Amino acid sequence: MKIAVLAVQGAFIEHEQKLKKLGASCVELRKAEDLKQSYDGLILPGGESTVQGKLLRELGMFNTLRDQILSGLPVLATCAGMILLADHIEGDPTVHFQTMPVTVRRNAYGRQLGSFHTVHDLKGLGEIPMTFIRAPYISQAADDVEVLAAVDGHIVAVRCKNQTALAFHPELDESDALHQQFLAQCKNA
Ligand code: GLN
Repeated sequence: MKIAVLAVQGAFIEHEQKLKKLGASCVELRKAEDLKQSYDGLILPGGESTVQGKLLRELGMFNTLRDQILSGLPVLATCAGMILLADHIEGDPTVHFQTMPVTVRRNAYGRQLGSFHTVHDLKGLGEIPMTFIRAPYISQAADDVEVLAAVDGHIVAVRCKNQTALAFHPELDESDALHQQFLAQCKNA
């Protein structure tokens, strides 16, 4: 199993460590040429979505990656990655892939509660640890988006066809459940 990890900015190394621990190999996507390799899935890591969106365009990776997502490549997006997928970003006209019919609110928990940790139920997996770092949440989701978890009434995990988006950082916690589930999804795709 070979998984591509967007590696232009942000917390990509932690995802790679998880994937390797689970027996998958990783391809780092840093430039347009890297997209020519074959891979079974894609991880969009946390970081700063504005910077990632800008670099994706400047490095000539944006259109190809968007096409790959639209063609059904399994995607696991965390935090900033979730913002990259969203159709709409509240109060921000600069959107990115727009492959997921949701509206996100960036830095949704404000500065005071910028980062927090909780343990919460996620559909199909049970209780898992969730670490939020200046996280977004989903303020609106279309009917074909499956809500996997809502914390304090706010949607923080969703699935829509081949795309899974999380507002938190499973790569930073001890649980491997989400990465395991993603690898199973890539295997079946
Ligand atoms: N606040 C970041 C953004 O808006 C996301 C934070 C994260 O990925 N941990 O892109």
